[in-house]
Amino acid sequence: MRIVAKCPACDASLPIAASEAMSAIRCGRCGKEMPITISDAVREDRAVDICPVCGGSDFYSRKDFDPKIGLTVVIIGALVSAGFYWFGLDLIAYGILAAAAFIDLLVYGRLKGVTVCYRCHSEFRGAYKDYAPGFDLHIADELEVEYERRIGRR
Ligand SMILES: [Zn+2]
Ligand SMILES: [Zn+2]
Repeated sequence: MRIVAKCPACDASLPIAASEAMSAIRCGRCGKEMPITISDAVREDRAVDICPVCGGSDFYSRKDFDPKIGLTVVIIGALVSAGFYWFGLDLIAYGILAAAAFIDLLVYGRLKGVTVCYRCHSEFRGAYKDYAPGFDLHIADELEVEYERRIGRR
């Protein structure tokens, strides 16, 4: 499992390999050292049960989507179809637009999920089965405030 920990002090993204036995990581940007505790399930890539960074057990899952790629497909599709439209081939133009939207959907549907910690926003990617529910704004509000109080940011 690959973990991207978020530094509590400066929000830098710090990649960690869960298989490495370590008890602390140091932020490459601000130098803050933070203790981490990797649970057995996380180390063995079975599940994300306890966040190694903040100790929380509340996660949500989202698609590991890079919006830039999706946008590129749509823009290229729109440009090509505008070309056909210019030459009066509007049926082909609409077809290409529809195809671009379809490719977008297809790409999105095949994406792997990423599990995110509600409290510290650390991210988890691996072969494990992702059971975390989708993002819930109410839970996020509550847990983020709790965590930020704990690390002294509020
Ligand atoms: Zn930092
Ligand atoms: Zn966390």
